Amino acid sequence: MTYCYHIETDRCKGCGLCVAVCPKKVLELSTQVNSMGYFPAYQARPEDCILCAICCTMCPDVAISITETASDACP
Ligand code: SF4
Ligand code: SF4
Repeated sequence: MTYCYHIETDRCKGCGLCVAVCPKKVLELSTQVNSMGYFPAYQARPEDCILCAICCTMCPDVAISITETASDACP
């Protein structure tokens, strides 16, 4: 079983809430704008992510998801 962490970059409005709440300081805002003109969040240190899902819960735009897949690699 593999856990897949995904940020839907084009849904993100760069509010920074997820960056602030991450207990492991995994997230940062990109320096490149998305299709809506916002600086989206991304996992700057994915190796530190503990998959706690606090960022998913906090995101007002439901842009972050953690899913399970039976295969070895994320889609
Ligand atoms: S799942 Fe938890 S540790 Fe991983 S980026 Fe989100 S808040 Fe941080
Ligand atoms: S909380 Fe959601 S909208 Fe805000 S920066 Fe994070 S992913 Fe983007």
